[in-house]
Amino acid sequence: MDISQIIDPLNKAQRQAVCSEAQNTLVLAGAGSGKTRVLVHRIAWLVQVENVSPYSILAVTFTNKAAGEMRFRIENLLKTPVRNMWVGTFHGLAHRLLRSHWQDAGLVENFQIIDSDDQLRLIKRIMKELGIDDKQNPPREVQWFINESKDNGLRAEQINVRELHNREYMLEVYQQYEALCQRTGLVDFAELLLRAHELWLKQPHLLKHYQQRFSHILVDEFQDTNTIQYAWLKVLSANNLPQTQISTFVVGDDDQSIYGWRGAKIEHIREFEQDFKAGSSATVRLEQNYRSTGNILDAANAVIANNSERLGKELWTEDGEGELLQVYQAFNEIDEAAYVAGQIEKWVEKGGKRSEIAILYRSNAQSQPHEYELVKRAIPYRVYGGLRFYERAEIKDALAYLRLVSNRQDDAALERIINVPTRGIGQRTVDIIRMAARETQQHLWQTAQTLIAEQRLTARAAGSVQKFVDLIDEMSALVTDNSMSLSEQITHIVEVSLLKEFHGKENSERAQAKVENLEELVNAAKRFDDEGDPLLDAVKESNERMPETLSMSPLAEFLAHAALEAGEGQADEWEDCVQLMSLHSAKGLEFELVFLTGLEQGLFPHKNALQDFSGGRLEEERRLCYVGITRARQQLHLTHAESRTIYGRNERAYPSQFLTEIPADLIRQVRAVSQSPAFAASCSHFNNEASEDGVSIGQRVTHKKFGEGTVIDIEGTGARARVQVNFDYEGSRWLMLNIARLA
Ligand code: ATP
Ligand code: MG
Repeated sequence: MDISQIIDPLNKAQRQAVCSEAQNTLVLAGAGSGKTRVLVHRIAWLVQVENVSPYSILAVTFTNKAAGEMRFRIENLLKTPVRNMWVGTFHGLAHRLLRSHWQDAGLVENFQIIDSDDQLRLIKRIMKELGIDDKQNPPREVQWFINESKDNGLRAEQINVRELHNREYMLEVYQQYEALCQRTGLVDFAELLLRAHELWLKQPHLLKHYQQRFSHILVDEFQDTNTIQYAWLKVLSANNLPQTQISTFVVGDDDQSIYGWRGAKIEHIREFEQDFKAGSSATVRLEQNYRSTGNILDAANAVIANNSERLGKELWTEDGEGELLQVYQAFNEIDEAAYVAGQIEKWVEKGGKRSEIAILYRSNAQSQPHEYELVKRAIPYRVYGGLRFYERAEIKDALAYLRLVSNRQDDAALERIINVPTRGIGQRTVDIIRMAARETQQHLWQTAQTLIAEQRLTARAAGSVQKFVDLIDEMSALVTDNSMSLSEQITHIVEVSLLKEFHGKENSERAQAKVENLEELVNAAKRFDDEGDPLLDAVKESNERMPETLSMSPLAEFLAHAALEAGEGQADEWEDCVQLMSLHSAKGLEFELVFLTGLEQGLFPHKNALQDFSGGRLEEERRLCYVGITRARQQLHLTHAESRTIYGRNERAYPSQFLTEIPADLIRQVRAVSQSPAFAASCSHFNNEASEDGVSIGQRVTHKKFGEGTVIDIEGTGARARVQVNFDYEGSRWLMLNIARLA
């Protein structure tokens, strides 16, 4: 047996982890120290050396993309497919379990997963029905409350109303929401996890089956597990039974815990050693970093050192210092985007690939100026997060048709498309249907038909609603006739729904893009026809060993796939393009060249964190900064702007405190902007550099004709020097410096 491929590419501490003989192993290590590599090699080791069947291995990662990569790397190491191994996210795994055991979980067979938008729509509807004023009581807060309760394992009936302090209405909405979802076969993301946990508790025979099946459970990014995920793991691994045979192997980094706001608890790392003490246990620490240059690591170490609650580790590398970090002070967000795009062009000119580059930001809204600039310069890019493919309005409309066709009880889908494209069904009619549905406790679909039969709608409204009902029935007849492939079914539904005509009717680029997106949905279905879903296949592979039966129509499979994929990237994987994403989505990834943008107080760290006097949220922001810095392998650019328009408001901005936490000797200031004393003082360790012609960006100048303005860009030197000035009253203009005679 040749195990050198598994062992040789590892250092001593990594090997120790991979070959750990302890029943429970915790690998606690900093960014880029090889945690994910260790996890992959551990699985290969188990299969190859310890003869563990892939069927008995359960691996949990944070995104579907990571799960795909993990499977690929394991198969590469083992040189054989491991299709019956379960690799997935907590949500993906929970979903598969619930599909296989929908009856035991108390669900309907064709239950649908709803995303956060649908959830909010349902909550608003319930609040309206209950007569709760949504101005005074924002529905988002109720949504937050419901999800937080579920993440903590709490159903409405388990919540103590007295703890709600005058916000009892939230509990009432939660109760109604639970009932509505149950009645209409809808499952939100938090519900997936909660039900999967309840499945263990309520169905001991199933729990026993899976405990016998999985001898090894491995978890990546363990620091970001929330209460219900951790509880699910503990029950499955039978951690409280001294005789448990199940081995757990978790890897994590307390400094990279960035989902506290969504219920993740760093404490689980500490608790792991306490909670998983059956059999032997081991903790391995890795501190050598293989990803970044010395300067990048020193910056990351310096920033994170300002946090108090740490388990304490310091990263080091054998590689050299590398280049200095570049800090760019932009005039505004447009200037910032222009700088980033310029640097990208330089990288590509030197032979670098675009896919090696990431632009990272704190909030998704920041992607827009970058997108604009990249489009202008014809630089291909791909945005992760933000408005993801499956979350775009036109795609959600099409999916709502598919959902309703597959499940008539899906009220959320019906509400979305009953009048899209417009077919003369007004808000009043919808309200009548809703109220009647509430009274009779029936689905909207059924209620609409009853209202027509009993002639309780106006003739016009009844006619329009009947047409809608017929349309869906007709679509459904085609789908249930099995002669069509999934992509043919979807093509057909997109055609007869007239969504393309509806979204494409404006003669604009946006409309064109919407039509293309609808066409892309058909392509996605084609790919799904060909490739399927690996985790689902893993369940099917093990079908012969009951009770993991699974019967879903291809359409239902595709819908579930789309709902779970919605959290991730779109576009063509193979195209060489720049990656844009929020810092949260960048977790676990690495890039040669990274731009960490918008480093300004209030933006990053986020203003909510600055208002939190306990300091806990600021520490989470700092961990996010640490995650951002440690994504870079060779080059790291940090940018901030002197003023920024965000959410429609232009505001003066000041450098992030995180910038000042990076030692000055690691930084090269590329170009300074501001001349304003307050701003200059706030960036004291950066120098202002004037251009060769004595003009500098940000300088206030006066022009005879245009009046006063600020220099925002400079090009060329000597007789060919041009400056761009943003005049206070005349807007921005390019001027030849030797002609303009600026004072
Ligand atoms: P993160 O905390 O960001 O998730 P990580 O600890 O999971 O990082 P990996 O992604 O596994 O780190 O590894 C970081 C990089 O270092 C990868 O490119 C990996 O291939 C490389 N690497 C890890 N260990 C070694 C090693 N022993 N020799 C050479 N390269 C290594
Ligand atoms: Mg990792």
